Order: sequence, then structure tokens, then C-alpha cells
Amino acid sequence: MSSTEREFVEQWRNAAYNCYSSGHKFCREVCPVTQVTRNEVHTPTAFHANVVAMEKGLLSIEDVARDYVHCTQCGACELRCPNTLFTGDFYRFRTRTVQLVKAVRALAVDSGIHQPGWQRWVEETNRQKSEPVLGDVPVSQEHVRDWAAGLDLPVGGETILFCDCEGAFHRTSVPRAAARILQAAGVEFGLMREQWCCGGPAAEMGYAERAREFARHNVEDWRAVGAKRIIVFDPHDYISFTEDYPSYFGDEYDFEIVLFVELLAELIRTGRLALTRPVERVVTYHDACRLNKRKGIHEAPREVLRAIPGLTFKDVDHVTQWSYCSGAGGGLSIERPDLTAEISRRRVEQAGGLGVDTLVSACVWSERPLTEQGGKLDQPLEVMDLLEIVALSAGLEDTP
Ligand code: SF4
Ligand code: SF4
Repeated sequence: MSSTEREFVEQWRNAAYNCYSSGHKFCREVCPVTQVTRNEVHTPTAFHANVVAMEKGLLSIEDVARDYVHCTQCGACELRCPNTLFTGDFYRFRTRTVQLVKAVRALAVDSGIHQPGWQRWVEETNRQKSEPVLGDVPVSQEHVRDWAAGLDLPVGGETILFCDCEGAFHRTSVPRAAARILQAAGVEFGLMREQWCCGGPAAEMGYAERAREFARHNVEDWRAVGAKRIIVFDPHDYISFTEDYPSYFGDEYDFEIVLFVELLAELIRTGRLALTRPVERVVTYHDACRLNKRKGIHEAPREVLRAIPGLTFKDVDHVTQWSYCSGAGGGLSIERPDLTAEISRRRVEQAGGLGVDTLVSACVWSERPLTEQGGKLDQPLEVMDLLEIVALSAGLEDTP
């Protein structure tokens, strides 16, 4: 066993034994990947059990690295796990499968084991200093602000709007809606001088040092333009800025991170943003894993939807909600696009069963696979971002 492997096992053995000894395996029924593959080695249980086997010298990282591709880091298993549900408060223990998956992937990269798709992703990212979003759109630093054309947005200031890569290069209507909403509500904000990827995807795929480079660059840019407050609309950025960055920078990290959907609910509640135009749609809401399951944020988006005149909102079942995932997170769409597509298909099928015409999401990363699958239903389902639908109701149609 290498020294890095030994260090890893020492760090994760207690968590692994906590899971291994309970034997409940409740997590398997809510894991979106396991539901599709039905493969025992892709279960959250196996992810923990492997650590026990590694400690005993029965398995090595080479044996198991590929299995850990099969995770969207949605957090459903952590919520469902009895270790979190029943004993968490008492023993101050919460199952941390998401962090474990990240740690195994990092161990694999450290040990020179690479997954082909993720390796290509990192190479492309190095070349272009931003995120190589899958598809044919031009991705580079020269194009990172193209989405803001004609909006007359300043650079710098106390409040920065951080635009995630999928929004900047692919679904540009989302950041445009975000900017127009802030302008309409009188919120002053600027953009970064040079924005790089938040680093979240690199961290999720195990490229830990690369993720820190992104973070260092972005934090330096925030400081250089006098930023104190960062507004984010992408739940993945929100995780990076509230969990990863504080762990990299410690006490020096003193930025206020504002989640757009929470700010939005407040702007509507206080009358700073008026939703005056009826939107005659029947919608349901897709809980982004990183908001609901990972951060417990589920009320604000519902409050916003209920404030839109003309809209009929059909909520999903709150209990089964923890297994709904678009399949787009954790790098799965890069390594196993077939699985992402099937997870998305199941999600839109469930939404379609509610008799809605629109699935509203507050996670820009989920929107590409959900849109693709929503279009294939017998009764096609349109996928809209919460910000897009709010912009419509506020009379902020985009005229670039
Ligand atoms: S992660 Fe939790 S639910 Fe899953 S097998 Fe381990 S203890 Fe059981
Ligand atoms: S985080 Fe989500 S995808 Fe990953 S093992 Fe847990 S339930 Fe499965």
C-alpha cells in the first residue's frame, strides 16, 4: 500500500466502519445511479465497504477507481442513511459519501489513474483557462462575457455576479435573466475582470490541485476589484464557494456568498421586484440536488414560483424528492453520458406524470439533459430556469 493510500484509509476508515457495520443499505434505493445500473459495485454502500477492504489489503485503488465514476454527488444517500437520520444528532455523525467519492477520485488521480473523459476535460480546461462545456459553442476567456452583450454591465465593485460556465457559454438566457432582474430591482453589481471556472467540477473529478488553482485565481480577482459579496445562481458554484473555498483559504476567506434564488425571494417579498405579467403555465419544480439535498434549500424557489401570477404550481412528493436527480452532476455526464440521459429521462417522466407543461429548475447544469429528454416525451415538457420564468413575469423579456 502506498503512503498516500495509507493516509487515505486512515482518514476514512471510521466513516467506512460506521456504514459497514450498520448494514441497512437504505441508500441504495435512493441513489439515482444505482437505480439505473443495478450494479452492486456502484452503490454508496460499496463505496464505503471498499475502504474497509483496502484497509485489510484486499483491494487497491487500481481495483476500484473506475467504480467511483458512478456518482453524481447528489447527496441523496447521505440524507437517507440511518447514520444521518437517526444517530447523526446524537453522535454528531453524518454519513459523508459525497466527500468520500471526491477523496477516492483524488486518490486515484494522485496515484496516476485517470478516467479518459475527465482527463480530456482537464486538458481542455488547461488550454482554455475556463470550462470546456460539452458541445460546439466557442469556449475561451475571449468569450466568457459574450452572454452580457448589450447589457452595459460594469466590471468590479462590492457586489459581483458570478456567472457559471454552462450559463456563460451554453444557456446564456439564464445569466441574462439574472442580470436584468438585478438591474430592475436596483441591485448594484459588476462582473469579474477575468473569470475562471469555480473549480468545482475539477474538485469533483479528483483534480484537487487544479481546483485550488481556479479558486486562487478567482479570489485574487475578487480582491483586486474590491468585491465583498458574490451573487451566484448556479448551485454548483454555491457549493464551491461555501464549502470548498473556505476549506482552501480558512479565516482569510471573508466573502459573503449570496444565493440568487434566496435573494430573489427577498426582492419579491419586499416589493423591489414586481411580478405583474401572468404566466399561464402548469409547472412543477426540479429540486437541484445541491440546493435541496445538499444544502436544505427548498422553500425559496417554491415561494418564488407561488408569487408568479397565472402560474399553476404542482409540487412533487416531498418524500420521494430525495431520489430525483438530473444525472448531470459530479462529472457523470462527461464519463457516462448514457447514464445521465437515463437518469434525466426518469426525472422528466415523473414530472410528466403530474400533467404539467413545464419543468422549472434552479440549476443551469440540469437544464441541458432535462431539456433533451423532456422533448422526447409523448407530451413534450419544456424545461425553464426559475430566473427565465421570473424575468417573463417581471416583463423583462430579453432583447439583445
Ligand atoms: S451509507 Fe448509510 S444507508 Fe447506505 S449502507 Fe451505509 S449505513 Fe446504510
Ligand atoms: S451522492 Fe447520489 S449518486 Fe452519489 S452515491 Fe449518493 S445517492 Fe448515489
